[in-house]
Formats: sequence, structure tokens, C-alpha cells
Amino acid sequence: MSVRVRFAPSPTGYLHVGGLRTALYNYFFARKHNGSLVLRIEDTDRTRYVEGAVENLIRTLTWAGIEFDEGPHIGGPHAPYFQSQRLDIYKKHAELLVEKGWAYYAFDSPEELEEARQKSPHHEFKYDRNKMKNQFTIGWGKSLELISQGVPYVIRLKVPDNEEIRFYDIIRGEIIVNSKDVDDQVLLKSDGYPTYHLANVVDDHLMEITHIIRGEEWLPSVPKHILLYKAFGWEVPKLAHLPLLLNKDKTKLSKRQGDVAVEDYIAKGYFRDAFVNFIALLGWNPSADREIYSIDELIQKFELEKVNKSGAIFDVVKLEAINSKYLYSKPIEELAKEFKIWVEKRGYSGYSEDYLRQVVGLLRERVKKLPDIIDFAPYMFERPKQFDLEYFNKHWNPSTKEHLKNILNLFLSTDDFTHTKLHDLVVEYLNSKSLKLKDVVHPLRLAITGLSYGAGIFETLEVLGKKEVVERLEYFIDKVLPELSKES
Ligand code: GLU
Repeated sequence: MSVRVRFAPSPTGYLHVGGLRTALYNYFFARKHNGSLVLRIEDTDRTRYVEGAVENLIRTLTWAGIEFDEGPHIGGPHAPYFQSQRLDIYKKHAELLVEKGWAYYAFDSPEELEEARQKSPHHEFKYDRNKMKNQFTIGWGKSLELISQGVPYVIRLKVPDNEEIRFYDIIRGEIIVNSKDVDDQVLLKSDGYPTYHLANVVDDHLMEITHIIRGEEWLPSVPKHILLYKAFGWEVPKLAHLPLLLNKDKTKLSKRQGDVAVEDYIAKGYFRDAFVNFIALLGWNPSADREIYSIDELIQKFELEKVNKSGAIFDVVKLEAINSKYLYSKPIEELAKEFKIWVEKRGYSGYSEDYLRQVVGLLRERVKKLPDIIDFAPYMFERPKQFDLEYFNKHWNPSTKEHLKNILNLFLSTDDFTHTKLHDLVVEYLNSKSLKLKDVVHPLRLAITGLSYGAGIFETLEVLGKKEVVERLEYFIDKVLPELSKES
């Protein structure tokens, strides 16, 4: 039987980083085994409906390079792929279970349920089918009568009283739960919508899913699902529950400690391949001493059996480290094209690709993400408006102005505006005055960039070009210096 897996998100408005990992592992598994990957939208909780969420999900999954074989955006033999469009299927299946004696009608009002909940010890509520209002306590005939009168009802799973539920998880091994710890789960709600459990099991079966790969938070639901498969007489797909994602302090990954939406990381300018690489290694790594992998390598090497049980720490520092490795090794032409988009987004226009290529070449080793270049070195796009006064005070003396003027004249005198030539001119000048490089490079850097840090100053001058450098120096000497001297 060929492998069929699915990614089954609920459209909450954004793609959680944990969701992306689940989608990726399903994708790797499907591709590795020449199987199919299905996208199914689990949108039966209408209270959580968010406009545009599905389009956004698909856009983000596509950004990550995940290709589906079936889904709402491509169709397929098991359409529709929106659970909200399959309500009649779930209802039919819930009723089938009632017929088989595996489920029953219940008529408790929300108030009655709330009261029972309040009374239950330690608030650990478990539905007591011998006490509450259902087909067992009021009788079958009365139940049918209420239904025909239009009284709201739900269908609940009739969980056996004291039975061992066993299942095997590829990552976590054998798990045994006693059915006495399982609640008589609602399968069909009074509005005719299924709960997650019913819809999920019915669809996984009807869509011929062979392996369920999803986050560990769904593990507690499995005993209910096992009972459902048994009730329907269906085979249980193979199960694999992926480890939780954790904050650095080992608590469950939360919005409070950082971004959890993939979209936030896209907006921040992480590379697609670097981000996917990082996410793929949350809970699995094919080798202990390597962390850079292409998607094709990840597909080739993927093994569900090798996924860790213990939680995986979502460490942004590691993400940055991986991203900067990509930044350093990608072809400069490719980077320049992408960088142009960021530069324009920031409102800078008119820069040639050649200039942007030089800027990226000059600065990519100093930042973690491509757009960070703009924040790190804004002076590559606009003349400095502010000048670091502390830096000025530290490196200024009465003769510095004179040196800067002389250096300006040297720059004016040459047409060879390469960093080596500029360096040699300055060094020659300094030697003639028995000065050191540090006596002028700091003031020069301040004049050109306004800042105390950056890439090599001569390389920076070369990229900015003669005209720009000369104008900045003139402006600094004539206009800025008198002001800075007043302030210091
Ligand atoms: N709809 C569930 C979610 O949002 C799917 C869980 C599963 O894969 O079974 O994650």
C-alpha cells in the first residue's frame, strides 16, 4: 500500500512554527516513500473561524516549498478537503455508531453539564452516562421523541468501562491507557458539527491515510481515536507524535517569549531555505556534527524512527546562526536581487544591482539576515544625519581637521578609487607626518558614516564611490564639524 500522509491544520489565522515542522515532516516522509501528501482543513470549530486564514496558510506552506498532492487548492479524489463541507459524512458516521451501540444520544443542557462539572471532585469532570440525561437514562423511545420535537442533542462515544487501550507510536513506543480514564467524548455537537475527534478519524480513514504524523499535544486524544477505529471496524493508521517545541527555559513555546507565527519570521527576512533547515532540525538531526541541509537532503535522510522523544528547544540564536551561514554562502547575484526588494520596501530606490551586490559583499558577514544590512549600515543608502558625539570626542584632537582636509585633497586627486589605492594614499600621508592609521580612520569613519562601527573603512569608501565620499567629507568639514565642536 502506498504511503499517504496528511497535514490537517485548523485555520487560526497564521501558521505556527510547530505546524510548519509537522507539515515538513509529513512532506519529507511522503516524498521519501514516493507517497502522497494531503492538505485537509479542519475548520469545524466555527467560533475560531478567521477570514482569509486558509489562503494565508496555503501561501505560507507554499513559501516553505511544501508541495501537496491533494488539497482544497488542487482538488483530488477525496474532495472536499474542507471539513466544514463534509458535515453530512460525519453525521452519517455518528449515527452509524449509535446504531452499532458504540455511541448514544444525550440531551443535557449546557446548564446541567455545568452543574455536574462544578460538582465533580477536583473539577475532573467525566460524563456519567448513568446519571445524566441520555438515551440510557430516559429510554430509547423518549429519546426519539425528543429528537423529533427538535430538542437539541449531541452524540457521545460510549467508552467501555474498564478496558485496556493499547497502541504503538513510532516515536514514543507502546502506550497503554485504561478506558476508565477516557471520557464519553461528544462526537457530534448539537449544531450538527462534528468534534475534532470524530471528523479527524473519519477523514483519516476515508482519505486512506497510512501514517498520522502530528504534534505531541494530540497524543492524549489517541485513546479516543483508537476506540473510534475499533467501533467502526477500521484499521488504525501508523502513529507518530512529534516532540513539543519549547522556549529556551524549557517551557512550552509561547507567544510571550517570542514569535510563533512563520509569517513573522518571513517578515523579518530569514531565508526560506535557512528557516526550513532550522525548523526541520527541531527534534531530529540526521547527523550529530552537521546542521546545514538542503530540502532534498532532508527528504533523503528523513526517518521517523530517528525523531527524538524529548522536547525541542526553539532557539532563535541558532536560527540566526544558520541564516547567517546561508547569507555567507549564497551566490552574491541571488542575494543582490533579493536585497533590492528589501531596500525598496524601506523606501530607497534607484540603486543599481551592481551597487547592491557590492553592498551585500561588503556587509553580509556582519549581520544575520539580509535586510539587517540596511539597519546596520544605513549610510550606504543615505547620508548620515546624526554623528556619534562620544566617538567624536574620543578620537578628536586639534589637528584632526587639518588631516581630514588633506585626505580630502588626496581623494580628489585620484581617479583610482579602489580600497587598496585609498589605503596606500592615506598611509603615505600618515607616514610623512609620523602618524598612525588610527589617528585618522576613526574621524574618517565618523565623517562618512556617522557611526563608530561598520565594515572596513577603505572598502566602504570604494563602494560609496568618489563623488559621494568627497561630498560627504566636504559637508562634514564645513557644516558638521563646527556643530560637533560646539557640543563637545
Ligand atoms: N486540526 C488539528 C490541528 O490543528 C490536527 C491534528 C491532527 O493532525 O490530527 O493541529
